[in-house]
Amino acid sequence: MIIHDSCELCYSDLVIFSNPNLVFEQASLAAAHWLSAAFWRKFANFVKSGCISRELKTMGISRSTTAGVNVPGYSKAGIRKSRTSRWRGAALITLNLFMIAHIIQWRVMGKTISPIEPSETMHTLQKGFVNAGFIFFSLAIMATLIFGRFVCGWGCHILALQDLCGWLLKKMGLHPKPFRSRLLVYVPLVAALYMFVWPTAYRLFSNPAHEPIIPKFTNHLVITNFWQTFPSVAVAIPFLFICGFVTVYFLGQKGFCTYACPYGGFFGLADKFSPGKIRVTPACNQCGHCTATCTSNVLVHAEVKQYGMVVDPGCMKCMDCVSVCPNDALYFGFGKPTLFAPKSNAIKRSYSLTWPEEIVGALVFMGSFLAVRGVYALVPFLMALGCAAVTTFLALKLWRLLRARELSFYRFNLKSSGKIRKAGWAFAAFACAWIGLNAHSGWVRYHEFLGNLAFNKIHLPDELALAQVNPVRWLSPADRENVLRGKEHYVAASKTGLFVNSEVLPKLAWFEYLSGDAEQSVQTLGKAAAYQKDESKALSLYYRGAILNRLARYDEARASLDEALAEREDLILARQEKGESLWQLGRKEEAVSVWTGAVQRNSQLVLVNNELAGATRASGKLDEADLYEKQADLFTPNDPLYHWVLGRRLQDLGMTELAEKHLQQAGQLGGSGAMPNEH
Ligand code: SF4
Ligand code: SF4
Repeated sequence: MIIHDSCELCYSDLVIFSNPNLVFEQASLAAAHWLSAAFWRKFANFVKSGCISRELKTMGISRSTTAGVNVPGYSKAGIRKSRTSRWRGAALITLNLFMIAHIIQWRVMGKTISPIEPSETMHTLQKGFVNAGFIFFSLAIMATLIFGRFVCGWGCHILALQDLCGWLLKKMGLHPKPFRSRLLVYVPLVAALYMFVWPTAYRLFSNPAHEPIIPKFTNHLVITNFWQTFPSVAVAIPFLFICGFVTVYFLGQKGFCTYACPYGGFFGLADKFSPGKIRVTPACNQCGHCTATCTSNVLVHAEVKQYGMVVDPGCMKCMDCVSVCPNDALYFGFGKPTLFAPKSNAIKRSYSLTWPEEIVGALVFMGSFLAVRGVYALVPFLMALGCAAVTTFLALKLWRLLRARELSFYRFNLKSSGKIRKAGWAFAAFACAWIGLNAHSGWVRYHEFLGNLAFNKIHLPDELALAQVNPVRWLSPADRENVLRGKEHYVAASKTGLFVNSEVLPKLAWFEYLSGDAEQSVQTLGKAAAYQKDESKALSLYYRGAILNRLARYDEARASLDEALAEREDLILARQEKGESLWQLGRKEEAVSVWTGAVQRNSQLVLVNNELAGATRASGKLDEADLYEKQADLFTPNDPLYHWVLGRRLQDLGMTELAEKHLQQAGQLGGSGAMPNEH
């Protein structure tokens, strides 16, 4: 598509060529400007193949006759092919190779530099972990403040995927058409604020945990658990497919950058301040080759005419427009940033949506995002944004398919003369399946959300709940109601869900345990552990072991606790419970050894010190027993329930003397009749 075909000279009002006052203003920067202009002209010339007009003239071919003719180095539309794209392609391939090398190095050596990924900045802001991602993101923003969005165009792996998809589609004869929305372009900035500003603002204004506003910074540049903050490979593949390919097919070549990327939200903002811009000389004749080439949906010819530079923050400085300009009229140079460009409404942009459609689209986007984000504990934030953008497009296109008389998509005729064609039915089927899947995710998410709400309302301490096999007596009427409702919602989510939610299962198991169904709870925790890894798996196995101990299934309990410790050997409570299993199985020396290992890690463990006091007293080592008992008493809270829990647990182990002591203290502190009668 060529925007203008006239040869009329539309000189831009670029300051350095036409306005003497501004020439004077620039005088102090002349040397630096000349040097930078010389460099960037050199760079641009390096990637150019020469002036199309002159080349074509020498070949005896005029521009009007080049369209549709195969001339080496030119597209069918007669536009010179960009040479920069090869360099950019090489840079992006190198980037991907570096990423692969980084993963291989970590797998081979066991430790490596933390992920060079902007999302890691969240851990710096929230937990104070100074990592490579934070350093990279900070440097990238600073570079963007000076040079503009080069990092996006030349150093982003998602953009590389989008470019690859765009290239493949073009090879198939499909040219991705940009979806232009006025409202959804704000999504990246809102997402960036949510990711990087909201957590700090929340701590500032509402901080129930009294965490410091600025966390204590610690060095996390070299790590061993490289993959910890990334989704599993099973999630990463659909994530890259949706963000890199599906968004390009439906929303245009930079669909994900424009409507989903939160980092782009900050880079776009920084670009407005940057003096580095694509600028124009008077040689521009408004042919429109630059706009036709730009895959970032920038109206290059119109912006350079109006402002003397590209002001659109979507410009990723890919330099394609510089490379294809037949008059060598574009260059990268320094001057006024966008913020100081005079405001103008002269450039009329065309949008894909009417205002009512924009509003409906924004609502659909929000609904879809809430429906898919975190569903089954699988869909990460960025993937949810990408899915929501695609859902919005499909919903609005489907609406038009129903209402319009004529509709097409790529080269496919969806509807003509009011009749839906085969391609239209295929599109409608796909759109309905996609939207239906979203709606289904929303249904599951709704139940998960209400289940979580009920779960968070229960404040029964674990120690109290796990003191004996049926903790129902400790539940208030409100707790019982929450357990009932929460269980119903989680069961509904699990029954209708397409995948197992490994985060919901342990909570469902806890509801089952609290409602008195310990057997079912053990089964559910076993199922949860099968889908989990690392800390969450260790915790599920620990709770399973603890409940099995209460059920007197000590051998199974010990096996489960061993598995928990294999995942996380620092899970000290699992050692405490394992000691109890061994004690009950008659393997008393092993039990003492496990408990001793636990107090060596943490000498303040009250129950374990009591258990060691009971065990050593039983073997006649009275002095040692006194020491353990004193150590336990030192850290025992003056709380009747706590004493009752200790008494109950020690009673189970047959350590009656100590159990009596704590049950009596519980009675005294809580008043007569306050504690349940354990006799
Ligand atoms: S900058 Fe170059 S490609 Fe763009 S409209 Fe002007 S002459 Fe054409
Ligand atoms: S305006 Fe030019 S440099 Fe910017 S993204 Fe478009 S083609 Fe690339």
